[in-house]
Amino acid sequence: MRLCLFNDDRLGLVRGDLVHDVTAALDTLPARRYPLPRHDLLVAALPDLRAPILAAAADAAGVPAASVHLHPPVANPGKIVAAPVNYRKHMQEAEADPATFHAAHVRKIEETGLFLKAVSSLSGASDAVRIIQPDRRTDHEVELAVIIGTPCKDATRETAMAHIAAYAIGLDITIRGPEERSMRKSADTYTVLGPWMVTADEVADPAALDLSLDVNGEARQRANTRDLILDIPELIVFASRFYTLEPGDILLTGTPEGVGPIRPGDVMHAAIAGIGAMSVRVA
Ligand code: MN
Repeated sequence: MRLCLFNDDRLGLVRGDLVHDVTAALDTLPARRYPLPRHDLLVAALPDLRAPILAAAADAAGVPAASVHLHPPVANPGKIVAAPVNYRKHMQEAEADPATFHAAHVRKIEETGLFLKAVSSLSGASDAVRIIQPDRRTDHEVELAVIIGTPCKDATRETAMAHIAAYAIGLDITIRGPEERSMRKSADTYTVLGPWMVTADEVADPAALDLSLDVNGEARQRANTRDLILDIPELIVFASRFYTLEPGDILLTGTPEGVGPIRPGDVMHAAIAGIGAMSVRVA
């Protein structure tokens, strides 16, 4: 299933170019009282929602996906875990340009470890990325985003993949400079997730997906997830050694080579094979 959140808190099932409003399926979610759990309620209930979603879709005429406002497909992730330099060629381009890539931030992922992005940085495909410091270099980073489906602590390579609910395109928008990643990458709108999430059963081999990003029609990033340094199961093993991963947690797997600056007025076009494509404005 391809699921999106759109317009005024509507849940959509995406089929071809159409979005079918299946919001009625959310009525089957268990009632909750304060305090709410720290995970995303929709992602946690996804296995049980499948039948109600398909039933609701049968009654819903589709509207063109291009005509709706797409929000991030996960509304309430507990955390966004991200991988620093996790493609060899991106490591090489960073090492070759110390004026842009602060030396302290260009180390092996096994040494640097993972980092967290503020959940308040989350933004959808139809939202603009709003540059907060136009005088500083701010880059696009296209990444495969993994959405965790079931609680996960101390995963092994063998168990890791079973914890994945879905995949999406992630844009890890980044100010270059000396500050901690958690600050440079966590401004409002600096984590784009979209255009929808594709459930794991529909992604045959997440370790062989072409990903790309263009800016104003100019090719910037072209890569394949087979070139990840720490692959998806290894990232889940690594992350879950430190954090309990919860349903709806987002894991950004790292960006390949070709990162470059964006400026207000630009349009980024990001695509991942088998997941989708989105054009995101920069404001
Ligand atoms: Mn990144």
